[in-house]
Amino acid sequence: MTDLVAKVEQFLAEHPTAGADPVEWLGARFDAGLAWVHFPVGLGGLGASRSAQQAVDEAFLAANAPQPNPAAPVIGYGMAAPTILKFGTDEQKQRFLRPLYTGEEVWCQLFSEPGAGSDLATLATRAVRDGDEWIVDGQKVWTTMAHVARWAILVARTDPSLPKHQGLSYFVCDMTDPGVDVRPLRQITGEAEFNEVFLSGVRIPDAHRLGAVGEGWKVATTTLMNERVTIGAHAAEREDGLIGAVAKTWRERPELRTPGLHDRLLRLWVDAEALRLTAERLRQGLAAGQPGPEGSAAKLTFATLNQAVTGLDVELHGEEGLAYSDWTMRRPKDADWASRDAGFRYLRMKGNSIEGGTSEILRNIIADRILQLPKEPRSDVDIPWKDLPR
Ligand SMILES: Cc1cc2nc3c(=O)[nH]c(=O)nc-3n(C[C@H](O)[C@H](O)[C@H](O)COP(=O)(O)OP(=O)(O)OC[C@H]3O[C@@H](n4cnc5c(N)ncnc54)[C@H](O)[C@@H]3O)c2cc1C
Repeated sequence: MTDLVAKVEQFLAEHPTAGADPVEWLGARFDAGLAWVHFPVGLGGLGASRSAQQAVDEAFLAANAPQPNPAAPVIGYGMAAPTILKFGTDEQKQRFLRPLYTGEEVWCQLFSEPGAGSDLATLATRAVRDGDEWIVDGQKVWTTMAHVARWAILVARTDPSLPKHQGLSYFVCDMTDPGVDVRPLRQITGEAEFNEVFLSGVRIPDAHRLGAVGEGWKVATTTLMNERVTIGAHAAEREDGLIGAVAKTWRERPELRTPGLHDRLLRLWVDAEALRLTAERLRQGLAAGQPGPEGSAAKLTFATLNQAVTGLDVELHGEEGLAYSDWTMRRPKDADWASRDAGFRYLRMKGNSIEGGTSEILRNIIADRILQLPKEPRSDVDIPWKDLPR
C-alpha cells in the first residue's frame, strides 16, 4: 500500500494536474496502472489487491487530480468494465477499457425491455448470425444515458428454441450503428435521463460478443451483481450525499427545525452511517472476487434510506420544499443529484427502488441466497422460450 501511494506521488510529480487536459491526464494514469490497480498490467492496473484502490483514489483526490468524466462512471465503470475484464478477449480489453476509463467513450446498458425487467431472462430482442456478424432487432427501454453513449452492453436472444436462460448471448453494441434509434423518455423529475432504444437490423461483429454463444445469462449475472454494488455501495465519506445535504440545511437553517424532525434526522443519520460502513466492508470483501448477494442488501438499504432522507428534506423545507424550481425538459449528461433542490431529489429517488433491480426482487434474493428460505416457485425454467406465454 505504501509503495502504491509512493507511486501515486511520483506520478503526480511527473504529470502536473494544474491545467492538464483531463482525458490525456487520465490516459496517462491508466497507462501507469493507477486507474484500477487490481486490473492486470497494461489494462489500467498493476495486478495489486482490490483493497488498495481506495488509498490510490484518495491520494489523487487530495491532489485535486482530474476525475473521470461524470457521465461515464456508473455504467461504464461499474458494470461494463468488470464484465469486459472477466469475459472479454484480449482484443476487447485493449479496445474498450482505456477510452471507457478516460471518459472519451460513454457506455449504456441495453438490458430491460417492455416485457422483460425483473424477469430479464424473458427478453425478446433477437440476434441472428450472418457470417461474421449478428443482426439485431428489438426494443429496449429505460436506457440511462443512451443519448450520450458510444457503446452499449446488450443481451439478446440467439436461440428461441432453448429455455429462457440458455438461449441468450451478450454483445457490445455500437450506438452509432444506423439501425439504433434513441428516443427520450421524460421522467417524473421532468428530465429525460433515460430512453427507449429501437434496434432495427443493427449489425454487431462476432468479435464484439462477450462470452460464448448461449452463455449470455452467465455474463449478465456478473454485470447485475456489479450493478448492485455500484449503486448501493459506492465509496462515500461520512455525511456525503443526501444525508449530508439535509444535515447541512439542519445546521444552517435553525428556524426550520422541529423536535419531531430532529428525532427522525438522527435516526436516518445513524442508518446512513451504518450503510456507509457496511458498504465499506462489502467493498473490502470484494478483494476476494465477484460480488455476492450482499450487494443486493446494500442496494435495497440504499433505496429505502434515500427515499426516507429526501422525504425528510422536503418536510424540513416546509412550503419551500413543495416549490419545484425547474420543470423544463432536459437530457442530462451526468447524474448530478447533490446540487439540485430538495423537490428534485425527492422525485428522483423514487426511481432508486426500481433501477438496478426492484426492492421486491432484492428481497427475494436475500430470502433465497442469504437466508436460505425456500425458493419462489418457478414453472418456466425448462420450457423453450418460444413456447412461453407472452
Ligand atoms: C431510473 C432508472 C434507470 C434505469 N436504467 C436502466 C438502464 O440503464 N438499462 C436497463 O437495461 N434498465 C434500466 N432500468 C430498468 C430497470 O432495471 C427495470 O425497471 C427493473 O428491472 C424493473 O423491471 P420492470 O420495470 O419491467 O418491472 P416489472 O418486472 O414489470 O415489475 C413490476 C413490479 O412487480 C414486482 N415484481 C416482479 N416480479 C416479482 C417477483 N417475482 N416477486 C415479487 N415482486 C415482483 C416488481 O418488483 C415491481 O414492483 C432503469 C430503471 C429506472 C427506474
